[in-house]
Amino acid sequence: MSRRNNPERLGAPQPDAPAPPPEVTNTQTDIFSFINPTEFVDLPSKGALYPEGHPAHGLESIEIRHMTAKEEDILTSESLIKKGVALDRVVDSLIVDKRIKAANLLIGDKNALLIAARITGFGPDYGVKITCPVCITENDCNIDLQAIKSKSPEETDSKLLENGNYEMIFPEYNNLAVEVRLLRGADERKLTQNREQRRKAKKEDSLITDQLGAIIVRVNEVTDPALLKQFVEQCPTKISREIRTRYEKIMPDVDMSVPFTCSNCEYESEVDMPMTAEFFWPRQ
Ligand SMILES: [Zn+2]
Repeated sequence: MSRRNNPERLGAPQPDAPAPPPEVTNTQTDIFSFINPTEFVDLPSKGALYPEGHPAHGLESIEIRHMTAKEEDILTSESLIKKGVALDRVVDSLIVDKRIKAANLLIGDKNALLIAARITGFGPDYGVKITCPVCITENDCNIDLQAIKSKSPEETDSKLLENGNYEMIFPEYNNLAVEVRLLRGADERKLTQNREQRRKAKKEDSLITDQLGAIIVRVNEVTDPALLKQFVEQCPTKISREIRTRYEKIMPDVDMSVPFTCSNCEYESEVDMPMTAEFFWPRQ
């Protein structure tokens, strides 16, 4: 029971009694809670891939608040956008359990939260331009975010280890064993920062070696980061492609592929939903 409802406080103050201290209440959150609902967002990982002790361990869903002006402030804060952290801040701000942070969530789980948050703030209609890969015509598309579903990890030969990592074996290369970790929000942010730095320095992109470097934590018995870096640089394309293909399969995520038909040349295919600025800053 809150202090405000304490019946003792309802009586007239006694003349000899000292004046009661001014009441301290958190009225902002109390009074307006009814206009700030929450909802549970299903995690593609079902919480199964977080080690014991992680706040999302075993959680099938995470409770988030609906977006408010506070999150719009974060989204319009230019310095945050430049640092590429605005979306993580929004996720952190919305998650009810403050022990859970976007930086520590698997990327697929974070994506599920971002999509749910976007729906609570701006609705499920996402208008975006998609360029036809055949005739290069820009198509105005409308994506229904509610139709986006989770994809569960596929059955593969990769073995789930106790620490939540996977071991991939390559029999055609002397049973080469590669242990990979599933990337989290913080890794994604670091990869984006690397890409930005290279772009600014006018260096060539290194997307593939960056990603491999981020996911590979062991090759056979080797765990030394400097040696793993060498492996990544010398890794034959056949193996590196295979690692990335298998990684895509084991990574729980939301299925962001959407059907696309070009209005100009009628080319049809599935394309990956682009996450452009309009995702959180819809055109009016
Ligand atoms: Zn076309």
